[in-house]
Amino acid sequence: MHYTPPKNLLKQRIILVTGASAGIGREAALTYARFGAQLVLLGRTESKLQAVQAKIAAMGSLPAHIVTLDLLHTTPAQCQQVADDLTAQIPRLDGVLHNAGVLGDIAPMIELSMTMWQEVMHVNVNATVMLTQALLPLLLRSHAGTLVFTSSSVGRTGRANWGAYAVSKFATEGIMQVLADEYRSRNLRVNCINPGGTRSKMRAAAFPHEDSNKLKTPADIMPLYLYLMGDDSRFKTGMTFDAQPHRKPGAIV
Ligand code: NDP
Repeated sequence: MHYTPPKNLLKQRIILVTGASAGIGREAALTYARFGAQLVLLGRTESKLQAVQAKIAAMGSLPAHIVTLDLLHTTPAQCQQVADDLTAQIPRLDGVLHNAGVLGDIAPMIELSMTMWQEVMHVNVNATVMLTQALLPLLLRSHAGTLVFTSSSVGRTGRANWGAYAVSKFATEGIMQVLADEYRSRNLRVNCINPGGTRSKMRAAAFPHEDSNKLKTPADIMPLYLYLMGDDSRFKTGMTFDAQPHRKPGAIV
């Protein structure tokens, strides 16, 4: 996407990013901070979140909050506790990027273990919904809230061997559409991003034999992440966007 945002695009914005410790989520958090936002970094590994927090501080951006939460084991009560703790620290949320996710096994459906299936569904779908339910009141305090989910090309067209992950991303697209419709006449827009093949630990696990140097980096795909968090997308809701629109799914360009 070709988008050149103003330097102060996210000034006065408070944005929570899940999976902010690594990969695309880490880059999104750093980018949002660079464009003026105050960040809430959510993830399961405190030391990695602290490293991102320190980097944001070193950039001279606003101090970031950390929320340690393991989405694999989280419950509605824990998510509500996160929202209650945040409510005591920040006045509102202007944006939430649901980015954390797990891949599970790449294998034919007949071979998938139900344990792995449930883990992928819990992290990618159930925990995302729990967290959204808990955070909605904070988001609705914003005059222009934006809720962004992370999808995938296999969340739009099923593909052999992508089992639980693909199904979880179909569910993500569905969650986005339902919420967008529910809040259409309110001050909250809801959209999905499909990052497209991007250099990260997850991508390397999914495609161990590809040359990662041929992939876009998380930094390369940030224009769309900025666009959906800022005011330039204020009339967009219920939509699914490709960060790399001309890229063929599953192919190296
Ligand atoms: P990474 O594996 O690099 O990062 C995943 C992030 O999610 C990490 O911050 C990780 O934390 C966090 N996470 C994983 N499990 C949990 C958990 N149980 N609780 C809390 N946080 C957790 O993946 P990417 O950056 O590549 O992917 C980001 C998103 O983009 C995902 O939703 C993925 O499905 C999607 N996507 C990625 C593509 C790609 O090519 N990279 C293509 C299409 C979609 P920790 O650091 O502690 O492991």
